[in-house]
Amino acid sequence: MKTLRTGLVRALPILLAGLLPAGLAAQTIVLTNVNIIDGNGGPVQEDMTIVIEGERIASITEGPYESSEADGPADVHDLEDSWVLPGFWNMHTHLSVMFPHNHALDDEALPSKVIRAGLNAIDGLRHGFTSVRSVGEQDYIDVAWGLAFDQGFFLGPRVFGSGEPVSPTAGHRGSVDEGADGVAAIRKEVRRRVQNGARAIKLFSVEMLPDELEAAVETADNLGVHVTSHVREPGAYAAVEAGVDCLEHGYGLTDETIELMAEKGTFYDPTIICNLSAEYIAEREARLAELGYAEDEEIVRLRTMVAFADERSPEFAREQRRILKKSAEAGVKLLIGSDSMPIGEMGFLEMEQFVISGVSEMDTIIAATRNGAEMQGLLDDLGTVEEGKLADLVVLGANPLENISNIRETVMVLKGGVIVDLDAQLGTSTYWDYYGSMELPEGFLAESEEAAGFQRGNTATDQ
Ligand SMILES: [Zn+2]
Repeated sequence: MKTLRTGLVRALPILLAGLLPAGLAAQTIVLTNVNIIDGNGGPVQEDMTIVIEGERIASITEGPYESSEADGPADVHDLEDSWVLPGFWNMHTHLSVMFPHNHALDDEALPSKVIRAGLNAIDGLRHGFTSVRSVGEQDYIDVAWGLAFDQGFFLGPRVFGSGEPVSPTAGHRGSVDEGADGVAAIRKEVRRRVQNGARAIKLFSVEMLPDELEAAVETADNLGVHVTSHVREPGAYAAVEAGVDCLEHGYGLTDETIELMAEKGTFYDPTIICNLSAEYIAEREARLAELGYAEDEEIVRLRTMVAFADERSPEFAREQRRILKKSAEAGVKLLIGSDSMPIGEMGFLEMEQFVISGVSEMDTIIAATRNGAEMQGLLDDLGTVEEGKLADLVVLGANPLENISNIRETVMVLKGGVIVDLDAQLGTSTYWDYYGSMELPEGFLAESEEAAGFQRGNTATDQ
């Protein structure tokens, strides 16, 4: 018996390394011949080797990997001069909410929503978004998926769910029928969310009175979760003053509010991508055409979705981008948030929009990595490529500091030291079939294209 056990233990590492999928194969994973953009904003570390033991980064050293007998077996990846970054964070998502709204899904049953939400999250991870914050989701679908991923039932991103936003009656431009009114009701709603597993509180604070806003912030603080709010001016300043930790959208933010945010360390999640006008989409088209993405089916579909989402003027979009640039210059901590789905492609678009709006590539990467972890209070474990941290990593085949669109050149994604198998087929349809080839009464995509004034395959130059 004893002999058998010893034999098994000895054989196990070899067996695992030989037969199991790459991500589960060895306890030690080595990424060598890589350049590291660590998420802290310092210079690129060239020709490096990262050793991952279990779920954490054990060492980061210069030069090639040198194994020793004592190290035991390792799964070594020569990544041929690739770039390693911290996993991306999409901090304004809704896992199931279709944006723009798809009327074919008006009567969608809850189980169907749940499935779409999970697919969206898993698709996001495969794009390199190892963490997402959900800021508005019915029935705690976001919390449930977060738990399922944490427990390893499916390989998905870390999900920091909020459940439904806390809002007064008639909040969010009058759209909320039964809200929480008064201090006691607001406190109860915040507590109820945390009790149900929320790891962030989302507010519709524009319509809240000062005592309600303060009650929300105080109650969330007391329970150790942060508060983020959908805001526009006037009212954004009041939210920052009341201690809201993060602003979503920030429509029309004044210089005064931006200054106060910088002073108080308030995060800003501008969601530029959901405020685009046709002229900015054209700008992006030109960049994507240069990079050879103009004929990519997914990109073409996304262009349509973004354009359909735009109900605002070019002046409005220009103003929001000016606010973003100004916030960056003032030292406000920025976040990447797409609002629209799917999480992955829309997250990429938001990062590209940061650069087109005048934020540097490096600051965009910090917004997409370190700042998300800091917002979530997890900077000790996540957000940067450093020894001791969890190995949530993205490997890119080209340098994103030279061209931010190189974030699309995904070579490898790791979450907690597990390599995501990007070649594994999830099904015969993709996430895009919800938009494109689902049985829709009027042809959702066609409607979108018409509303957006696009024809398939067009690029900026031939519009
Ligand atoms: Zn939203």
